[in-house]
This record gives sequence, structure tokens and C-alpha cells, in this order.
Amino acid sequence: MIKFWKKRIKLGTLTEDLEFDTQLNEIQKEIKDHVHKKFAGSLAIRMVDSGSCNACEAECNALSNPYYDLERLGIYFVASPRHADVMLLSGIMTFNMTPHVLEAYKQIPEPKWVITLGDCPAMQAPFDKNFAIKSPAEEHLPVAHHIAGCPPDPKEIIKGILSFLRKI
Ligand code: SF4
Repeated sequence: MIKFWKKRIKLGTLTEDLEFDTQLNEIQKEIKDHVHKKFAGSLAIRMVDSGSCNACEAECNALSNPYYDLERLGIYFVASPRHADVMLLSGIMTFNMTPHVLEAYKQIPEPKWVITLGDCPAMQAPFDKNFAIKSPAEEHLPVAHHIAGCPPDPKEIIKGILSFLRKI
């Protein structure tokens, strides 16, 4: 038992990042403010997978949990590009998916923005360019912001969304 407590005290709390908790409050406040001013309180994101391994999507799912709680900030993931303001693009832009990505982009009403998520669409992942891979996405679409990582964790994604909102 003593051994357990010694280890517990030495390592501290591993499941929570208390420093980030404070930072997150600030990030959320600023995001809510930008969404209110620039998108009348509601920013719709259409996530498009152009050939990913799904890890980027899994990290994105965490943004809807009560800790990050994107919906409380006015950011929603929508099922149709016609309802979206922003395309959040993950994946390596495969030969087969590229035309569908471009079609989805076409369907988003103006004004619209593209954020690339993860190293794949920026062609920084461990893939070589070949006939099946059409990355980088910026050769096909006007990319407004890139969130790096393989996969980027929810902290990086929420910080990335804030950087995008500051930019526009
Ligand atoms: S960036 Fe990494 S985690 Fe994301 S889709 Fe590509 S390989 Fe998967």
C-alpha cells in the first residue's frame, strides 16, 4: 500500500491536464465570441474523409464530449455540405475520393472555408505521391487553415479552430 501511494504521489494525476483546463476555458470563451461575431452564433462544419485511417475522425468525435463541448460554443457538425460553412477535410485525397471531395466543396454555399485536418491532406504523412494519392489538398482546394498532427489530439484541434477563427 505504501509503495502504491509513493508511486501515486510521485507521478501525480495522469488523467487530467490541470494546466490545460484553465487554457481551455480561455479558448472556449474566445471561440464563442468569434462564432457569435463572425457566424451569427452558429458555425456549421461538414467533415469530409478523403481517405483517412479514421484516427483523425476519432479525435474529432471527442470534441462533442462534455469536456470540449463544441456545440455549447455554437459549432455543429452537419450531415450535408449544403448546410455547412466550413469543410473539415481529413485523409490523403485518394484518387477515388478526390472528385467527391471537390463535389462536396462545390455544394457548400458561399462564403466557405476549408480546414485540413491531420498530416495526410498536407501530404506530410508517411505516404509517397503515386497514382492513387492526390494530396496535398491545397492543389485542389483553397485551404484556409491546416491543423497538423497524426492524428492531432482534440486539444490541437480546438486550438486549430481558434487560430482559423482569428484569421478570418
Ligand atoms: S493524418 Fe494520421 S491519423 Fe490522420 S488520417 Fe492521416 S494517417 Fe490517419
